[in-house]
Amino acid sequence: MQEEHPPLRALAEEIAGCARCPRLAAYLAEGRQRHPDYWGHPVPGYGDPGARLVILGLAPGFHGANRHGRVFCGDDSGRWLWSALHELGLCSHPRAADWYSPLVLRGVYVSNAVRCAPPQNRPVAAELAACRAFLRRELSLLPEARVVLALGHLAHNTFLRLRGQRLSGFAFRHGAAHEVDGGPPLMVDSYHPSRQNTHTGRLTWEMWLSALRAAAQAAGMGH
Ligand code: SF4
Repeated sequence: MQEEHPPLRALAEEIAGCARCPRLAAYLAEGRQRHPDYWGHPVPGYGDPGARLVILGLAPGFHGANRHGRVFCGDDSGRWLWSALHELGLCSHPRAADWYSPLVLRGVYVSNAVRCAPPQNRPVAAELAACRAFLRRELSLLPEARVVLALGHLAHNTFLRLRGQRLSGFAFRHGAAHEVDGGPPLMVDSYHPSRQNTHTGRLTWEMWLSALRAAAQAAGMGH
């Protein structure tokens, strides 16, 4: 398993107990009743405390991370993420079926803009705003972070808002790199490896691998 880091562990426990967004807290509570075997709580980030590359998704999938309690676990997006990271030598295993999968990330930390699974995968603006505080604190505990790979425009906007930037100054484009107020981390954009993107061909495996490789290289990881 991943190396323990007490401050990240304490933050993860705080996130897991958060119920600040009433709509999402009610949705998760209702989900726990329908699926008592699911984790059913907010899902903290996961990865290497010395990460140079932070991968920022949107939110836990209801039947993926929300079920298993670990980001990008047990769904199609996770299959793409872990397979690609493994191919680049940044992850110990090519898949993570559940919480117990022995997954070790090397130089990479994975998180989400919103930590509760939202209905229809669509968080509202107030929920994105509320959860940004956790991302701010997570990034402050990852001092080596050089690149944030934003998966989709909502993750892209989340990072810009976190840095107090105007969204109009930074257009989302797959593969684009943005220097945000001059300092690290640099932001690199990628389409999210959601089924909606991978099954329609908007995001091909080659495009995905290329974006991850570029982000790792920009982070000085030399892949
Ligand atoms: S989305 Fe974030 S801030 Fe809102 S309840 Fe979930 S963990 Fe808390």
